[in-house]
Amino acid sequence: MVTRQRAYKFRFYPTAAQRHQLAVEFGNARFVWNRCLDMRSTAYKERQEKHNYVSLARQVTVWKKTEFPWLADSAACCLTQALIDQDKAFQNFFAKRGKYPRFKSKWDRQSVRYTLDQRHIQSTYGAGEFLKVPKLGFVKVRWSQMPAGIPKMATVSKDASGRYFVSFSCEVDIQPLPKTGTVIGVDLGIKDVAVTSDGEKTGNPRHLKRRLKHLKRQQRRLSRMKKGSNRRNRQRAKVAKIHAHIAASRADFLHKTTTALIRQADGIAIEDLHVKGMVKNHHLAGAIADVGMGEFRRQLEYKAAWYGREIEVIDRWAPSSKTCSECGSYQEKMTLRVREWTCPDCGTRHDRDENAAKNILKFSTLGNRGLKARGAGKNLPGHDPDTRDESRTDAEKFTEPMFEPTAWTGQRMSSSSMSFRRSQSCIRAAQ
Ligand SMILES: [Zn+2]
Repeated sequence: MVTRQRAYKFRFYPTAAQRHQLAVEFGNARFVWNRCLDMRSTAYKERQEKHNYVSLARQVTVWKKTEFPWLADSAACCLTQALIDQDKAFQNFFAKRGKYPRFKSKWDRQSVRYTLDQRHIQSTYGAGEFLKVPKLGFVKVRWSQMPAGIPKMATVSKDASGRYFVSFSCEVDIQPLPKTGTVIGVDLGIKDVAVTSDGEKTGNPRHLKRRLKHLKRQQRRLSRMKKGSNRRNRQRAKVAKIHAHIAASRADFLHKTTTALIRQADGIAIEDLHVKGMVKNHHLAGAIADVGMGEFRRQLEYKAAWYGREIEVIDRWAPSSKTCSECGSYQEKMTLRVREWTCPDCGTRHDRDENAAKNILKFSTLGNRGLKARGAGKNLPGHDPDTRDESRTDAEKFTEPMFEPTAWTGQRMSSSSMSFRRSQSCIRAAQ
């Protein structure tokens, strides 16, 4: 059993009074953030003085009593939390994990964080029933799932299309899924986001592509409108709504697909596609960004850790597409356009992606654990790193439009780090 912080996010519908109060909260928290950020920057530039959350919180208290009495209209915890978050942002910046903190704009997504009083929470919180937020009172939440545990903090946000959300995280115990006794290989691609070694295909919903035309038209309309006009503000919300819709259906697709894969098998072998490098390639950038390949892998990995599954990532130079999964023979020429092919050595008819998925499973160590390899051919010689030609790679699959394969094979052969190893990394599920 694993104990995890699990994040929940629900839409909620504030009353008119709550919307008003939230506008105050957002505005004040933003004001405090921006003014303190400015103070920090100038104090450092002019006098090499460093501020922190404690000195700034003191300053906010002074402001409440003097210059800006309206700051007292917001929940104290939201202002304090904004300063704590700013401290974190600076820590990230100094540790080179993030950029220099930026000013917040009223046109961006708005959010404030509330500290929930743990003494009162027992009587003011009921999962799936009620949630009380300081200064707002009880909020009308659409409980799309039942959260486990008790929240310590709540973040209330309003997105650019005007929807309100409350999110919080709880500590939950997750039971591992029952073992299935099987392992699968998964080929990630563009035509189908995932194809498994037993031939299942997910398709690619191409949310962005389908809606891009619509989005473009609305964006063009927005750009022609006069800045600051009401019509422009309405149009801005409309464009944001289209974006939100695309993001939501993409997230839905990815979650359903990754969960289905995790349920199917005890071990899943995937390729390391090096998403960053791929996105640089403009021919494929749109398609890959659309699918959310990096997110796909991230979800597989954390769900594997939750449910006691194993993910093995194989070398991204492995020739998974170009090797026959039945007899192991290697095909020199095969472009991205070839979707189906017949092996000249054994006569097997292959679907390109399914064959690749079978090979991915074979190249991994998962098949050698006495588990049933779903879809992988039976009489196949195991993958032997010593006898394989290092120059044979499957990288053309994604680099083809940019590089001439012959131009970099020589270079690759000279580099020992590229040598064809069985597995690059093996993420063992935390149990
Ligand atoms: Zn063959």
